[in-house]
Formats: sequence, structure tokens, C-alpha cells
Amino acid sequence: MENLNTKYLIIGAGISGLSFANEVKDDYIIIEKEKEVGGYCRTIKKDGYIWDYAGHFFHFKTNEIKDEFVEYIGKQNIIEQEKNTKIYYKDKLINYPFQMNIHELEKQEFIDCLYDLYNKEEKENYNNFLEMLYGKFGKSIVEKFLKPYNEKLYACNLENLDKDAMGRFFPYANIKEIIDNMKKEQHNSYNDRFLYPKDGAQSFIDAIYDRLEKEKVMLNTEIKQINENEKYVITNRNQKITFEYLINTMPFNKFLELLENSKYKKLEKELSYNQVLVFNLGFREKSMNKEHWIYVPDKNINFYRIGFYDNILSSDKLSMYIEIGFPKEAKINVEEQLKMTLYNLEKMGVTKNNELVSYSYIIMNPAYVHIDSKHNEMVKGVLEKLNETNIYSIGRYGAWTYCSMEDCIVEARKLAQKI
Ligand SMILES: Cc1cc2nc3c(=O)[nH]c(=O)nc-3n(C[C@H](O)[C@H](O)[C@H](O)COP(=O)(O)OP(=O)(O)OC[C@H]3O[C@@H](n4cnc5c(N)ncnc54)[C@H](O)[C@@H]3O)c2cc1C
Repeated sequence: MENLNTKYLIIGAGISGLSFANEVKDDYIIIEKEKEVGGYCRTIKKDGYIWDYAGHFFHFKTNEIKDEFVEYIGKQNIIEQEKNTKIYYKDKLINYPFQMNIHELEKQEFIDCLYDLYNKEEKENYNNFLEMLYGKFGKSIVEKFLKPYNEKLYACNLENLDKDAMGRFFPYANIKEIIDNMKKEQHNSYNDRFLYPKDGAQSFIDAIYDRLEKEKVMLNTEIKQINENEKYVITNRNQKITFEYLINTMPFNKFLELLENSKYKKLEKELSYNQVLVFNLGFREKSMNKEHWIYVPDKNINFYRIGFYDNILSSDKLSMYIEIGFPKEAKINVEEQLKMTLYNLEKMGVTKNNELVSYSYIIMNPAYVHIDSKHNEMVKGVLEKLNETNIYSIGRYGAWTYCSMEDCIVEARKLAQKI
């Protein structure tokens, strides 16, 4: 067995792991099981199409990180867009978010939404996500959009999610804002504008990776065992790496599974999440749509969201991503889903006999972790306990949370500065 040692051992070369290394600069090793860096922020280039692992757009709330993004990639290589997003509702496209645009519905549906919004029974505290939706928006808005859409995305009963399961990413709106929007459209959601590298999201990863010492990044290497007390890991290449600090970014449930003599077996099994099947589709002709992405709450349609790279990149052939949610234990029949997807795109009038000329698919597993208050507390407790032995688990999956790439960078940097 080969013996190595390092101060900072980082598991995973996604945006969290790379950002941590970029901050500490020295005395680190990154272990990455894939043959390339990037994790979920990777780009596929095929037959002239540029696709990500699901659309990965950059919505910055921190100027410092936005400036760095621009500096790393170069202004001339970045597209900045005001987002154009719609909801496909009963064969019509209406503006997103649904709750802010009920005045675009046909008259009776609008009246129902407005009536229920006005007469909703608001509470001081909500026990779960679904109860919060009913309490804040009333029956019609919930049952026409919020419930079916989120059930398709999360692939679970929304009563199993915490009221704050989506944190700042949920587009809250009160009656005044909804009524104001009927007269004058507001642009104040967290992601009204976004930036995107012309060469795909991975350009940012590549720019961070270029700043690291490549020999400290071990690709095609998988952590197989973690000894918390003696502070070492074992890899699939028969290496024993001792560390002072362990920074994990792999999914927390899988991390717990690898801990030797783990006290957390029960939690590891109970953690819930969905999988997302992503199709990237390239067609022969340009699309008729103008949108960047469209939300699809209709349960007769297999996907919950579709996006148009050609409208983001101003390219001349319809180039799409399609997202389909599944429960964690589902066996996914990719071929059947592709058939359904093409049928539904035609039915919606998106493809209109446009010929599919290239495609790829990815299964993101986990994709959205299911945040519920009981397990949230348990995860927090275990993370704190691990911190006592200089083990930190960060990132969207390492910390078992709902967050953006920017949040991952901020968290990784803060931790690097702290320790
Ligand atoms: C459908 C979807 C759409 C999204 N869209 C956006 C968006 O538009 N904008 C945005 O900001 N965010 C978006 N996100 C969120 C974004 O993907 C994540 O916040 C971010 O990529 C997480 O990065 P990470 O480094 O924490 O984890 P990851 O990218 O998952 O990296 C973890 C790394 O650990 C490696 N690993 C796992 N196990 C092992 C092991 N045993 N040994 C060694 N290595 C291992 C993995 O291979 C991986 O490279 C989206 C997420 C999903 C699911």
C-alpha cells in the first residue's frame, strides 16, 4: 500500500472542492473519482452542440465572486441575459412565477386564484412545505401550479419536506406584490439576470482548475473507506492518505456509509433525495420559442422543466435540456423516457417536426436533497460532531442542502479562511 499524507485532504473536485483548494493554495490533495474535474458543473460538447449537466447558470448575489467569475473567464467570453422564463399551462405560456402572474390565466381561473389567495388561512407556523404553500397562496394557486410542479421536481410527497425546504430560492410573494404585478411587471426575484460562459458552465471550473497545481489533484481515484479517529482514508488504488483536516464534498449519505464503524447508519439510510434524468437534445433547425427555460406542471407530461441553450447562446439550431424527476429508489428506463419526451415536445409545439440529430443523457443522483426538519437537525448535529475532529462536509451534497454554485464557493472559502 502506498502511504501519502497532507494537511488538507479534499474529497471531490466539484466547484466546492476546487474552490477550497484555490483558497488554501498549499498542502492539499484532491481525490476525485471521475476522470475529470467539475462534478455537476460540467459541459458536454457533441456534434456542434454545447450542453451542461442540466442547465447551470450563474446568478450572483456577491459582487466579489461575480467580478472574479468575469476575470477568470474574460468578459468577451460571457453572455449576460435578463431571464425569459415561462410556464406551460393548459396549452398556453404564462409568465413565471405563477403566483405573480395569475392575471394571465383565463377569467374563471384568475377569479378562483384571487378569491383563494384573499381567503387563505395563514398560520404563524407551518408543519411542512405543502401546508406553507396552502397557507401563503390559497388552494387554487397551489393546486394549479405549486403542488403538481414541485411534486414532479422533488418526486415526493410535499408534506415530507420542511416549510423552508427551498430556502431563498422559493419565490415568495404577498397579496400586494401580486396585485402590483398586475399593473406593472416586477423584476425582483433572486435570479432575474444570469451570466453564462459562451463555452458552457465548465469554463469556470477549468479556469479555477488552471490556478491549482494539477499534480495535487488525483483523478480516477475513489475514496473507499474513512477512518475518523486515526485520520486516514483508503482509496481504490490501494493508497492510505493521512490528513490533518478532511474536507468532504461527496454526498453526505455516501460519506456516512464510508466511515469506519459508523455510528450514523440509521441516518445514512433515512436521508431522502430525488434523482433527475437530464436529456440534452440537439435538433436540425432553429426553435420557434424565445424563452430561456419553461416550467411544466402538467402531470401528463414526463418532464418538469425544459431549457433552450440556443436562445441563451444565440445559436442557430434548437438545443435543449430536459429535466425529469424520480424518487431515489426508481429504476429509470432511459429509452422509454426519451420517446415520451420527444412525443411531449411535439405535442407542446416546441419541436414541430424538427429532426433530432444528437443527444446525450445524464442521471443526477442525488439531484435535489429532501430537506425535512427532523433530518435537518440530525445532519446539523453530525456535522458539528465531525467538526470536533477536523472533518468538514460542505457543498450542496456534502452539507445536504439546497444551494447554488455561488453558495458552494462562499462556503468553501469561509471554511478555508477559518481553518
Ligand atoms: C438539475 C440541477 C440544476 C442545477 N442548476 C444550477 C444552476 O443553474 N445554477 C447553480 O448555481 N446551481 C445549480 N445547481 C446546483 C449545482 O449543481 C451545485 O450547487 C454544485 O454543482 C455542487 O457542487 P459541489 O462541488 O458541492 O458537488 P459536486 O459537483 O457533486 O462535486 C462532488 C464531487 O465529489 C466526487 N465524488 C463523489 N464520491 C466520491 C468518492 N467516493 N471519492 C472521490 N470523489 C468522489 C464527485 O465525482 C464530484 O466530482 C443545479 C443542480 C441540479 C441538480
